[in-house]
Amino acid sequence: MNHASHDIEHTHFLASDFAPLMSNFDLHTHDEHHSTIYGLRRDLTLAYVNAEWIRYAFRNSAPRHLLQPDIVLNLCVLDTITGPLRSFYRDLFQSTLRQAVPHYHDYDCSTPDELRELHMDVLPLPFGASEPDGLLTIHSQVRSRPIPDDYPPPKGASVPEDYLTPRGLLITCSNCRRFRAQDGSERWDWIPEYLNHPPAPISHGLCDVCLDYYHPINRD
Ligand SMILES: [Zn+2]
Repeated sequence: MNHASHDIEHTHFLASDFAPLMSNFDLHTHDEHHSTIYGLRRDLTLAYVNAEWIRYAFRNSAPRHLLQPDIVLNLCVLDTITGPLRSFYRDLFQSTLRQAVPHYHDYDCSTPDELRELHMDVLPLPFGASEPDGLLTIHSQVRSRPIPDDYPPPKGASVPEDYLTPRGLLITCSNCRRFRAQDGSERWDWIPEYLNHPPAPISHGLCDVCLDYYHPINRD
């Protein structure tokens, strides 16, 4: 892997006109997420994409020479969507801008080779505006984590990639209900099995996106 390709997949792109809308968010943390996160202007052009968005586009055969900030950040998001989903997304984004309230839903996006379910959040920007200037969209792939029969695991057993704190708690975001990974990353994942039947006691927190969106502090 050469240096340029390493960089392009690990850093977000942000348009300067959109930067004020993103000033409360920790974009370096967004780059650690396995979710695609992107910002849209009112005309539905892309103005911000996180590192996973760029990796996802690359995995889906977008030519590398097109994955440059000045090209990506002028695309209409609808031009990145094909088929009948295009009008679905256009209506969804436009109604979220009109209604000015966050929108959440689950949807299936399977391909012939891969079963994919996604959880999608669309947040009007800035928080609380009656006429939003843009949207922040988060697509999280649903992580399927069936609850093991032998929960809780015996003391000392290592649970691969687990979500338990050292004290045996699951941390869930009290707003979007994603679960915090405990592998040292800043990742929060969507695990529907844990919502109704948590395999361990729950402790509530706020994920970085919800914290920054609903409780902004001024960042320099
Ligand atoms: Zn959250």
